[in-house]
Amino acid sequence: MTEGIFDSIPNDVLKICQRLRDEGQRGWVVGGCVRDLLRGAPAKDWDIATDAEPKRVQKLFRKVIPTGIKHGTVTVLMSGTPYEVTTLRGEGAYEDGRRPTSVVFLQDITEDLARRDFTFNAIALDPLDRQIIDPFGGERDLRDRRLRAVGDPHARFCEDGLRILRAARFAATLECEVDPATLLAMGAPEPLATLAKVSAERIHDEWLKTMRATRPSIAFDLMQTRGVMTIIAPELAALADAPAWTRGLRAMDDLGGAVRRLAALLAGLGAESAEGLLERLKFSNDHRKAITMAIAHHDVDPSLEGPDLRRWLQSVTAAHLDDAVAVACALSDDRDPIDALGARARAELEAAVPLTTKDLAITGKDLMTELSLKPGPQLGVLLKGLLEACIEDPSTNTRARLLERARREAR
Ligand code: ATP
Ligand code: MG
Repeated sequence: MTEGIFDSIPNDVLKICQRLRDEGQRGWVVGGCVRDLLRGAPAKDWDIATDAEPKRVQKLFRKVIPTGIKHGTVTVLMSGTPYEVTTLRGEGAYEDGRRPTSVVFLQDITEDLARRDFTFNAIALDPLDRQIIDPFGGERDLRDRRLRAVGDPHARFCEDGLRILRAARFAATLECEVDPATLLAMGAPEPLATLAKVSAERIHDEWLKTMRATRPSIAFDLMQTRGVMTIIAPELAALADAPAWTRGLRAMDDLGGAVRRLAALLAGLGAESAEGLLERLKFSNDHRKAITMAIAHHDVDPSLEGPDLRRWLQSVTAAHLDDAVAVACALSDDRDPIDALGARARAELEAAVPLTTKDLAITGKDLMTELSLKPGPQLGVLLKGLLEACIEDPSTNTRARLLERARREAR
């Protein structure tokens, strides 16, 4: 079954490894792409580990970018595609230069794998010898859908708090169970104290990656029950026992896209508190706007119609209507009336009903010429009045009728 995985390795990767071998060095395929190959998923980002030092790697290939020389990473470009080639790193006994000769490679790669986070992320492939190097049983864990830390989970989470978030993410994206010892360590006090040091940007990135899971709720439920939320999003931790939390989790799995999923998750906070959290976690302006707009409008009265519906449309705007309706539906026990509201709202948009003064059949300039008005606040008030009349009755939006009305009101 696993034999086929070697045939999926791109030729460029084989070439890189062959070149290294020709020079007396070694190259292994490592990291996420090995995990993805083994579970039959398309692999992205082919990462290569090598025993060659970064300076050597730089010399061996024609096109290289010294991405992270300090950390041992050189990007090798092969016909335009980047491959990260990283020198074996290991914390441990072999760093004092006492490298055994013949088995050096195997032991070295094993040590490099030992510093990786989870067993299924700690598998290496030798693409030339077609060998799998899997010292921690990652392949079996992958097959059994089990997430397990490499080594002592508590110690590993204490070294790097980000791993707790990665654990939650992989539990969702790979739909696997967290091994009991790893699960326990995720919520233990010392690991959580380490998590507190993780930057907002990293949390942001993890959350966005988590949103690509079929069921991101798996990760957020874990974060809630393991006490992770208390550290990274206390306002969400406070919702743990509220129906809004469970409803949000369920809704987020039914929705597609990060915006809608986050809106469902955070709806229980209300738009203002959600905005605060998203800002703290460094979400982009576009994301913040879209998410908070959906939250602010999800609690809509589904019976709205006519002028009230158009006023709601003015507030939600055409840009955020679909998100708001989708989130409202997913969070509701009775989605048909909300679907119907969405359809009515879209019909209004298709009929091009004016929602802003810019949509009026007349401009401020027209009013100035026709009514001999001077620029000033009066003009704005007049336009707003005309818009209000059109919200009440969109058929009013013709040049003639608006002028007539403006003449009456300007008097
Ligand atoms: P994805 O690319 O889907 O996020 P990935 O597993 O490839 O998943 P990367 O961040 O690209 O994750 O890291 C590549 C590899 O580096 C991982 O598979 C893992 O072996 C190791 N790794 C990454 N982050 C950590 C970490 N915080 N602690 C230990 N090992 C890590
Ligand atoms: Mg990766």
